Amino acid sequence: MHDLTRCVHHPAVSQEGFSSLAVPTYRASTIVYPDAESFSARGKRGFDGYTYGLHGTPTTRTLEAQITQLHGGVRTVLVPSGQAAASMIMLTFLMPGDCVLIPDNVYGPVRYFCADYLKPRGIEYKVYDPLIGAGISSLIDDKTKLVWIESPGSGTMEVQDVPAIIQAAKARGVLTACDNTWATPLLFKPLAHGADFVVEALTKYIGGHSDLLLGSITVSDIELRQRIKLVLRDMGIGVSPDEVALALRGIETMGVRLRHVGRVSEEFAQALQESAVVERVLHPALPSCPGHELWKRDMGGSAGVFSVVLKPGAEANLKRAMTELRIFAIGASWGGTRSLIATTALKEERTVRPWTSAGTVLRISIGLEDEQDLWRDLSEMLGKLEH
Ligand SMILES: *Cc1c(COP(=O)(O)O)cnc(C)c1O
Repeated sequence: MHDLTRCVHHPAVSQEGFSSLAVPTYRASTIVYPDAESFSARGKRGFDGYTYGLHGTPTTRTLEAQITQLHGGVRTVLVPSGQAAASMIMLTFLMPGDCVLIPDNVYGPVRYFCADYLKPRGIEYKVYDPLIGAGISSLIDDKTKLVWIESPGSGTMEVQDVPAIIQAAKARGVLTACDNTWATPLLFKPLAHGADFVVEALTKYIGGHSDLLLGSITVSDIELRQRIKLVLRDMGIGVSPDEVALALRGIETMGVRLRHVGRVSEEFAQALQESAVVERVLHPALPSCPGHELWKRDMGGSAGVFSVVLKPGAEANLKRAMTELRIFAIGASWGGTRSLIATTALKEERTVRPWTSAGTVLRISIGLEDEQDLWRDLSEMLGKLEH
């Protein structure tokens, strides 16, 4: 063997005695086969086997299996973002002439996907009141093929009667998908209530460090996984094992992170109700939150994200006060170690349950900083809004 070949061929080394707690990061485009026969027969390996890096490596399979276990599902498919998880389900299971039902408080880009991408291609969408519960039946007709659920919903945090909606959809033979990003599998398991798909933006609590983008779709039926994987293959969409390795690290600490931010967010939500510039706090753990009883029945625990409606007029000094925050960072997305604050526009994104509050809405995501530092930062900011 000459040096040029030696440069390319990595020597095989012994793995005997090596055992690490970390999941190895397996990168691959090409998968090599032991002989010509198995190469010819590679099509028979299916989506649980290894055929091409795009379709999975042991690293991605490990995270898939872990999320599948947490959700009590059959298989999980990883996609490049939480938004891609939503769009891929819709692209796979909706055909021209079909209709999808989405809640009024759905993650904004999902509504835009329906309006900007699906609708011009002949796929309809209808927006429903997130508090509709079993009443979803009245919106289902022959064209309805999918009911999208997100609970609690983005921004306004209404908690849906997920079991009732799933039951009503199932009775009419309609698929149901639940965006479970706020609750994570630790607080809620939609598949146990009969959902066909559960979606997680791994970008948030599973990643946990604001340094990756990934989404997952966990299914209750292997056939559904098969159909999604075929579409991903046709579109050439897969995920990077390096991103997945970060998520595998993040998921190990999700339990303690979530328990902590859940407790602090509940305490802050409670306390913020007393602020002179706060009109309303929107947090599922508060009895005033629409769907609070359902949250108590189905989840009983909190994540770190909630919203605060300021009294009209409080916005006068808001930009300066936010800019002067020392601990909270200003930014969208959430679920990382840093606490975040952002203004959020709800009026344009509500068509069924009109948003009528005149005050500015702040979205707050609690991170892992010392809670006294956080509270001081937030109180000082709110103090600057009084006049
Ligand atoms: C952030 C978010 C998403 C999208 O996740 P990305 O990975 O950022 O695309 C989807 N649903 C909810 C509820 C989210 O908060």
